[in-house]
Amino acid sequence: MDVRQKRVLLANPRGYCAGVERAVQTVEQALELYGPPIYVRKEIVHNRHVVQALMAQGVVFVEENEEVPSGATVIFSAHGVAPDVHDSASARSLRVIDATCPLVTKVHNEARWFASEDYDILLIGHQGHEEVLGTAGEAPTHIQVVDTPDDVDAVTVRDPGRVVWLSQTTLSVDETQQTVERLRERFPSLKSPPSDDICYATQNRQEAVKAMAAECDVIIVVGSLNSSNSQRLREVALEAGAGAAHLVDFAHEISPEWLRDAWTVGLTAGASVPNELVQDALEWLRARGFGAVENVTTAVENTVFALPQELRAALRPGVERGA
Ligand code: SF4
Repeated sequence: MDVRQKRVLLANPRGYCAGVERAVQTVEQALELYGPPIYVRKEIVHNRHVVQALMAQGVVFVEENEEVPSGATVIFSAHGVAPDVHDSASARSLRVIDATCPLVTKVHNEARWFASEDYDILLIGHQGHEEVLGTAGEAPTHIQVVDTPDDVDAVTVRDPGRVVWLSQTTLSVDETQQTVERLRERFPSLKSPPSDDICYATQNRQEAVKAMAAECDVIIVVGSLNSSNSQRLREVALEAGAGAAHLVDFAHEISPEWLRDAWTVGLTAGASVPNELVQDALEWLRARGFGAVENVTTAVENTVFALPQELRAALRPGVERGA
């Protein structure tokens, strides 16, 4: 008789990070202050559930400022924007609330500083990702994007003695390190960012998954397909020894087939995933015999970011409100 018990290892930390919490609260507060419609340029965070819930409350998601009526309120997403996006908003007299995560802003500031010192900046990140477009837009003549370690050979710089690498905030820590090592082989004087660009939330979620992966027959990552940090969690799970790893937006997307021979299921969630979706996944698993839940805790997070200053100013007593 097999006496093993089916169990879930629950990664901790998982789900919402401080930057996402702030961005979602920003939209909710703006709705309360100004009433619908509130326009948001791009998805406020990369999560289908969050976007659908906000749409139901009167948020209109647009791709570009040109779709926002002149004079209306527009919120920029947590991923950050290039300076020309601010320019086009002012040209349309939009009321801008910038929900860019402060840890993305930090990378923008680094990019501007190194460009002002005339460095060639090698931005490690995914081509076309909104965050990368925003950061690269800070210094387009100085920045080139390096997507994978294999792209390193194609990099050319003006002065190999004056090169720095920066990165997207949501990359795989290990793969980024490989890219940096390849870059350093080519440019031994390569400078590093003053502090980690991959944010605390990305690093912590990857560490928690690594700690449990080898024990897991399968790991379920709750997160959206276009969420970079969720995708990285799935890859990290596989690299760290999980038997299989799957990304789902919602519990009902979990296939019973994935669990057919599984005794231990790992569960985590990307940084843009609200807790209720993790609870739905736990309930789904419990209903299929995975009732025992063990937390795998590798860090305790207490980071909180203040709301954007445009919103704090509008919320001050005595400030006139209304649509
Ligand atoms: Fe900010 Fe990191 Fe969260 Fe992105 S994942 S919003 S950089 S804290």
